[in-house]
Amino acid sequence: MKITKVEVTAASEAKGHAVRDAIQLLDRNGHTTVTIETDDGVTGRSRIYFGREASSPDVLAMIIERQLAPEIIGEDPAFIRGIRSRLRSLTDYQGTQGLSTFGMAAIDQALWDLQGKALGVPVWRLLGAQRSAIPTYAMVGWLELDIAGLERVSAKAMEQGFRGVKVKVGGGPLSEDLERVGAVRKIIGDDAALMVDANQAFDYTEALRRGRVYEDLGCRWFEEPLPAADTASHIKLAEKLDIPIATGENRYGQASFRELIEGGGVGIVQPDLRRAGGITDCYEIGLMAAGFNIPYASHGGGAHIHVLAALPNTIYVESGLLPDNSPISLIDGCYPLPDQPGLASWND
Ligand SMILES: [Mg+2]
Repeated sequence: MKITKVEVTAASEAKGHAVRDAIQLLDRNGHTTVTIETDDGVTGRSRIYFGREASSPDVLAMIIERQLAPEIIGEDPAFIRGIRSRLRSLTDYQGTQGLSTFGMAAIDQALWDLQGKALGVPVWRLLGAQRSAIPTYAMVGWLELDIAGLERVSAKAMEQGFRGVKVKVGGGPLSEDLERVGAVRKIIGDDAALMVDANQAFDYTEALRRGRVYEDLGCRWFEEPLPAADTASHIKLAEKLDIPIATGENRYGQASFRELIEGGGVGIVQPDLRRAGGITDCYEIGLMAAGFNIPYASHGGGAHIHVLAALPNTIYVESGLLPDNSPISLIDGCYPLPDQPGLASWND
């Protein structure tokens, strides 16, 4: 089988309900969609999401169309890692991070989807599954919500069968975090997991001060306490706190995880499919973390569920609330695995 064509489309529209974290307003629904065609008639697809900047899907589409796609025409789509190496060499001069990585992730995911469809199986079957369902929690505590809004979404998450929720922090003073976390805890009860996410908002001193408080509140983890690239401060912070530090969604490529993991600066790794480089890199980062007995919780859901099915160290898939017309229900706080061929998922 040979790759004959790569088709790319881009679109962006304003979000109906813009959401806010400690550092940004996410007000767009943008997508770049890649379809890889073959001489056998089998196709693979991927979709890369953008929450900000209306022009980003178009810029990524141009990188894929003009740079990456010509390099893979005529290749055997089963050589997913071989293609990855070629695309890394190709983008090395301009920088393999940033949108280059988003583009390589788009190709990687479309190739896995194609491989699953060619063989008629979901991708988790190709990776070798560890489990048949993935524990999940609901990321519902956005900062634009007032206390009543937070209580409403937390209650809805519990009604839908989630056994944990995540709340954004760091949008204001610590007293505000306390009020918000306290309100959510009252709704979800003592047994549900409650995570806090600062989206890189703090410096080391503030992260340590607030981390001690989140620890006392019994939070499950402290997510992105510090700017993602500041490995040294993560290592220092992890030495001082007992609460696990969760991070990784803003790290590019698997090499960026190595120092952090080796140094002990992360308690839970959270790669993002787009920034880590796709299914292949997330899977390999997960195995690297497993070698250090570090748990893995995905940033976002969607196609990530196939990686989470396979990794030995999976603890959670991230999710929003289920849509009102959701085709599935959670079972014992878990997403079941999809059974359609390729990279099909429940919560894209
Ligand atoms: Mg986060």
